[in-house]
Amino acid sequence: MQELIISQVDTINKLRQAIANLPRPLGLVPTMGYLHEGHLSLVQYAKKECAAVVVSIYVNPTQFGPKEDLDAYPRDLERDFSLLAGEGADLVWTPSNEEMYPDGYQTWIEVNETAYPLEGRMRPGHFRGVATIVAKLFNCVHPDVAYFGQKDAQQAAVIKRLVKDLNFPVKIAVCPIVREPDGLALSSRNVYLNPEERKAAVVLSKALFSARDAFTGGERNGNRLREIMAGIISEEPLARPQYVSCADPDTLEELESVSSDALLSMAVFIGNTRLIDNVILRV
Ligand code: AMP
Repeated sequence: MQELIISQVDTINKLRQAIANLPRPLGLVPTMGYLHEGHLSLVQYAKKECAAVVVSIYVNPTQFGPKEDLDAYPRDLERDFSLLAGEGADLVWTPSNEEMYPDGYQTWIEVNETAYPLEGRMRPGHFRGVATIVAKLFNCVHPDVAYFGQKDAQQAAVIKRLVKDLNFPVKIAVCPIVREPDGLALSSRNVYLNPEERKAAVVLSKALFSARDAFTGGERNGNRLREIMAGIISEEPLARPQYVSCADPDTLEELESVSSDALLSMAVFIGNTRLIDNVILRV
C-alpha cells in the first residue's frame, strides 16, 4: 500500500507561506499530539465544513503546572502524521518552544471569571497558558473556523470568551466527546493507566451518565446531581475525585437548580492519572 504523506512545517514563516496557497474557508484543529479518534473526529468535522484543514501539534509548556506531566506527556509525531494524512488534513504545523516563546517573551492573556473555578482552581495558570497559546495560534494561522472538543468543556468556554472579548475573526466549533465502547472518554493520558486502572476509569462516565439519567427522570436539584456523581465515584477504590460539578456551561458557575442547559463535569485521579470528563444536560 502506498504511504500517505502530509505537508509539515515547523517555522511560522513556512506556515504563512504554505497557508497563502490553501483555499478558504480554512479550518484549524489545535492539538498536543499523540492523536486518537477524538482528535481525528475534529479533523473530520473540519474537513466537512472547510476547504482546507491545518492541524497544529504543540505540547504547550505554559499550560502545565510545575508538578504536572509536561516531560512525561506522550509524543509520537510519525504516527500522528500518518493518521492526519489518512484523514486528508492539508497541513500540519509543529512549532518549536524557541519560536513560540523566544528569549524575552513576556505577553500573556488572562481570561477572568470563566477560568477561575473547576480546572482553573485545580490547575493555577493553566488557562493563562491555554488562552495565550490559542491566541498565538490564531494570529499565526488566521483560521476561519477553529475546532475544539467538548471533552475540555471549560477550555471551550474560556476560548469562546477570549474570541468574543478580543474580537478574533474566527468561529469556534465545539465537537462532541468520542468515547471507548465502555464509556471512557478518549484521552492521550489514558496510556498512563495500567489494566486495573483502565477498568476503574469507567467510573467517570458511569457517574456522569447516572446523573444524566436522574436529570432525564426529572431531577433538577444541583446538589442532588452532584451527590449522585460523588456517590458512584466513592464506590471505586482507585478513584480520588478533585471536583464534581453541575454548572452553567458558559459561566461555569455552580447551579442550585437546573432550569436551562447545564454542564456536569468532574476531575478524578485514577491512581496517579488525572482524568476529566463531562456531559451536557439539555432542558
Ligand atoms: P489535546 O491534544 O488533549 O490538547 O486535545 C486537542 C483537542 O482535542 C481539544 O480541543 C480537545 O478537547 C479535543 N479532544 C480531546 N479528547 C477528545 C475526545 N475524546 N473527543 C473529542 N474531542 C477530544
